[in-house]
Amino acid sequence: MNFIVTDLGRKTWQIDSYHAVSMFLIEGDNEAMLIDTGAGIGDLKAQVEELTDKPLIVVNTHGHLDHTGGNMQFKETWLDPDDLQMDHTMNTYDIRVNYARSRVGNFWPEKMEEAVAAVLPSGEIHYRELREGMVFDLGNRPVEVIKTPGHSRGSVVLLDRAAHQLFTGDMVNFQVLIYKGMSTPMDVYADSLRKIKARSGEFDRILRGHDRPIGSAADMDVLLSIVEDIMSGRDVGHYEEAGIRKGWVVARDGFSVWYEGPEGKTLEVD
Ligand SMILES: [Zn+2]
Repeated sequence: MNFIVTDLGRKTWQIDSYHAVSMFLIEGDNEAMLIDTGAGIGDLKAQVEELTDKPLIVVNTHGHLDHTGGNMQFKETWLDPDDLQMDHTMNTYDIRVNYARSRVGNFWPEKMEEAVAAVLPSGEIHYRELREGMVFDLGNRPVEVIKTPGHSRGSVVLLDRAAHQLFTGDMVNFQVLIYKGMSTPMDVYADSLRKIKARSGEFDRILRGHDRPIGSAADMDVLLSIVEDIMSGRDVGHYEEAGIRKGWVVARDGFSVWYEGPEGKTLEVD
């Protein structure tokens, strides 16, 4: 079993790859949109074509390899230019194999070798530039691009206006990673959380990139309270290691923010 498809209603399908990452397919009257392409494990294009025969627009919520790994299967992909370089660096066959070993291996150890064998060879990818405020009209289904830097500099969320839902990629998850080098400063992420919170009257559910995807605007409140406490120093959390992930963690109400830690403390331990 590679892809696990769940019909979420509202002409919206969640496509999971080994429960490691969630992609979404939505359909308007004229066109369909694929939101993220997973880690490039297995034939995603064939899976999408089983669900829709409409012309397809492919959009990446950000440039991490577990969201862009299948891009080469499609004619073109829309990505924010601020994440383009990161994707060029990360979206390689070897790094996608490592992802299969770490993420699938951690959660579904018995499926790891199958996942590694299904990693697609790299191919040419054609990008188009996502811009703040762009609206894709799928046919009585406008989808608005909202730029939300934080987890990565080029992260966007997609507001599916007619279906009243918001696709958040890794910007809102149970575990959010904010690391220097990969992410923006914490205050930029806080501003992005406030920006989409201000739009919460326009959606009644959010669809996240990982781990039991359906959430609500209340998720943003929890994450914002964590981030504000980190920035003020009220709660710096504790150091933790989980698989390949190492960092400082502040956890609350089922959510956690991983970051590089308070100044003067080290990220790595022996
Ligand atoms: Zn990510």
